[in-house]
Amino acid sequence: MAFVQIRHLTKRYGQHRAALDDFSLDIAANEFVGIMGPSGVGKSTLLNIIATLKKPTSGTVFVAGQPVTKWRDAKAANFRRTQLGLMIQDFRLLPNLTIGDNIALPLTLLPPRPKDLAERVAQVATQFSLDPLLTRYPHQLSIGQQQRVAAARAIITKPSLILADEPTASLDSHAATTFLQHLAKLHHEAHTTTILVTHDAFTASFCDRIVFIKDGRFFAAVTSKGNQQQF
Ligand code: ADP
Ligand code: ADP
Repeated sequence: MAFVQIRHLTKRYGQHRAALDDFSLDIAANEFVGIMGPSGVGKSTLLNIIATLKKPTSGTVFVAGQPVTKWRDAKAANFRRTQLGLMIQDFRLLPNLTIGDNIALPLTLLPPRPKDLAERVAQVATQFSLDPLLTRYPHQLSIGQQQRVAAARAIITKPSLILADEPTASLDSHAATTFLQHLAKLHHEAHTTTILVTHDAFTASFCDRIVFIKDGRFFAAVTSKGNQQQF
C-alpha cells in the first residue's frame, strides 16, 4: 500500500474553476517526490490539503492508510505534530519566540519534553549554520536565514512525512545544497517520505520522481531514471 494515497481530490474556491480537479496520486513510503508546474495550477493547494491545513471540496488523502483529510481539528493537529515536517508558505516562525525556541517548538508541543532537547536544537542549528542566531528573534533575520530556521524546525522531529512548498526559494546555493542533502540523508536513514513543490531544476534533481500538474490535474511524471510514466 502506498504511504500517501491521494484519491480524487477536488478543491473549489467559491465559483472559480477548480484549483484541483479530480487529482489522484500514490506516493510510496520513502519516496522523494517533486511537484512541478506553472504558477496557479494547484500545487500549494495540494500540499496544504495533504497537510490537513485546507479541506478538499471532495476526495480523500490517506496517510499510512488513515483518512487524514476527514479528521477534525484536534486529531488533524495531532497528526501534524507527530508525523509531519512542514515547510509551507504561511507556516511562519513565531515572532515572540527566539530562533532556538522556534526550532524546538515541534518537540516542545509533543509531551514528554525530550531530555536531549538542547542538544537536538544545537545539532540542527549547526547543520544549518544557525548557531550564532539562536538567541535572536525572527524579525532580526534575513528571509534566507528565516527559511533555514523553518527547515531546521521541519526536520527536528524526524517526521515520517515532510511537506515543503518552495523550500529552497530564498536559500543561497550553499544553504540549498545543505538542506537538500539533509533531506536525502533523512530519506536514507529514517525512511522519510518527502513531497516538495519546486520551480527549481537543482532542487528537482534530488527527487526520485517529478509529478507535473496542469490546471489542477495530473499531467505527467518522470522518474529519476528518466522513465516517462504518462504523458
Ligand atoms: P500554485 O501553488 O500551483 O501556484 P495554488 O494552489 O496556489 O497554485 O492556486 C491554484 C488556484 O486556486 C489559483 O487560481 C489560485 O488563485 C486559486 N486559489 C488558491 N488559494 C485560494 C483561496 N484561498 N481562495 C481563492 N482562490 C484560491
Ligand atoms: P479553506 O479554509 O476553504 O481551505 P483558505 O483558508 O485557504 O480556504 O482561504 C480563506 C480565504 O482566503 C479565501 O476565501 C480567500 O478569500 C482568501 N485567499 C487565500 N489565499 C488566496 C489566493 N491564493 N487567492 C485568492 N484568495 C485567497
